[in-house]
Amino acid sequence: MTILTDSKAKSGAARVLARVFGYEAFRGDQQAIVEHVIGGGDALVLMPTGGGKSLCYQVPALVRAGVGIVVSPLIALMQDQVDALTELGVRAAFLNSTQDWQDSREVEQAFLAGELDLLYVAPERLLTERCLQLLGRGKLALFAIDEAHCVSQWGHDFRPEYLGLSMLHERWPEVPRLALTATATDVTRSEIAERLALHDAQHFVASFDRPNIRYHIVEKQEVRKQLLQLLRQEHAGDAGIVYCLSRNKVDETAAFLCEQGIEALPYHAGLGAALRAKNQSRFLREDGIVMVATIAFGMGIDKPDVRFVAHIDLPKSVEGYYQETGRAGRDGLPATAWLAYGLQDVVQQRRMIDESSGDDAFRRRLGSQLDAMLGLCETITCRRERLLQYFGQSMSACGNCDNCLTPPQAWDGTVAAQKMLSTIYRLWKERGQRYGAGHLIDILRGKQTPRVLEHGHSALTVFGIGQDLSEQAWRSVLRQLLAHSLLMVDQEGYGTLALTDQSRAVLKGERTLLLRREAVRLTERAGRNPATPRAKSLPPDLPLAAQPVFEALRSWRAEIARSHGVPAYVIFQNATLGEIARARPASLEALSHVNGVGIKKLESYGDSILACIAEFDDAS
Ligand code: ADP
Ligand code: ZN
Repeated sequence: MTILTDSKAKSGAARVLARVFGYEAFRGDQQAIVEHVIGGGDALVLMPTGGGKSLCYQVPALVRAGVGIVVSPLIALMQDQVDALTELGVRAAFLNSTQDWQDSREVEQAFLAGELDLLYVAPERLLTERCLQLLGRGKLALFAIDEAHCVSQWGHDFRPEYLGLSMLHERWPEVPRLALTATATDVTRSEIAERLALHDAQHFVASFDRPNIRYHIVEKQEVRKQLLQLLRQEHAGDAGIVYCLSRNKVDETAAFLCEQGIEALPYHAGLGAALRAKNQSRFLREDGIVMVATIAFGMGIDKPDVRFVAHIDLPKSVEGYYQETGRAGRDGLPATAWLAYGLQDVVQQRRMIDESSGDDAFRRRLGSQLDAMLGLCETITCRRERLLQYFGQSMSACGNCDNCLTPPQAWDGTVAAQKMLSTIYRLWKERGQRYGAGHLIDILRGKQTPRVLEHGHSALTVFGIGQDLSEQAWRSVLRQLLAHSLLMVDQEGYGTLALTDQSRAVLKGERTLLLRREAVRLTERAGRNPATPRAKSLPPDLPLAAQPVFEALRSWRAEIARSHGVPAYVIFQNATLGEIARARPASLEALSHVNGVGIKKLESYGDSILACIAEFDDAS
């Protein structure tokens, strides 16, 4: 506490950064943002996950007089956030529905007594008259509206309570506000600005590139096998998240992974709050847990060493996908974003859109979001380039995605497309019939299935004209026709396919079609080029000699974390332990120069870190 009053008096953002957080320099836009807010300005901050948004409001809250109010929808994470700040010597607390009356009362009193630097509040709580009155009786340094994209009605995380937050501006016009999000399309951005009444806010838009994440999108075959292979061959022992579309699939997949000896936990809205909280806490605190989840999981999860995010179903939008994959590799170390998708995903998603409630405009919007996602899946150029393009940013081929590493081939699929489209056309025109993928492929490949025989489809002129392609290749053709809107899923039937307005040009030979041919399958690739087993989350470039020290420090940290009941990274992050192991400081003074060692942590842990290193030196 003394540290902070001291630093507040002497002030200066750089000083707070160094003393409290132990960091030597701001990153990217952080300094500009921090200075702008300290000066009383409003800001809209768009930064990818892991970009360093928290410091943008934490530092100004410590520099400005009064309490920084952080609005966040993530009640289940507030305790961890407050614990992490407490470890830094920052006076933080939260108000939410998990507290009993007495605890809230204590927090309120601390707030009024000016004994807090940061107060986390859920939006629904903030907007109660009681809470507004409370805030009116204290001094406010700023409002930080975290996960600000929750105000977007079209987005993937809409929270109606967020709409009420524009009133903060009316009630406290002189208190600076920052809205922060990792979602970055122009549409979302202007929606945030408008709905939160951030008319005069300066916009800070960081690059959305996450160079350490390797993007990899594969054709879905036997998805469980493919997933297992990914986990065993490339991420054995790593912590990661597996996203599924439905609760059922979450349960099944988690059970399957457990049977295979992988420590997997399920997470979805159907599980009940207590079990959800327990699984989340285990994921954050234990090493190497795989969380199998619906998209209900993950917002605000700041575990830095998530090594992979795997999607075994097609996400609904690029925005959602990018948020979810962004949860990998916050520590900047190599991480994987892996997605398996197939024809069935496209059919299912198109049908879900058709069946969704909401008006035409809403459905059109869902449709174009899906189209953008499919475009990403089927692109033969750099995935990252495509992703960033979606967020209005440009870059050249990244060298760290599947398309850059093993470029897929493009082939002229015009004739194949014509065969498929004319089959669908004939069946509809001549017989008024529509079918799904499987039967259409049987006809083209000339298979005499009971259904083909029963309907007399072997008499069609198109029967058997597609034997040059395998069934899998035909599925890939169908998938791409759907992705390019040259086919649609018929609204009446069950996944039956129909032509679109655009199909005609291909049928008439006015349009040629370049299709993607899958690069070598994961199985073959992995077999030929086995991934070198990597030690778990070791900082890159850690010299061999420093590794045993790092391991010793890691065990020391695990013990402290357990006794404090917090995740290990709240004590020190791997990057910091790595630097300590490398530098082997022999004095508190030397230790204080390590990036990530602030004054409070030096006070709390300095001696025992030095002892840990010294003991090691004796032993070696
Ligand atoms: P975001 O909220 O944008 O996802 P965080 O605020 O959690 O990102 O920061 C991501 C990581 O980067 C954290 O581990 C944080 O400690 C670290 N970090 C942020 N800013 C700095 C900085 N200026 N110097 C060193 N590390 C930083
Ligand atoms: Zn690339």
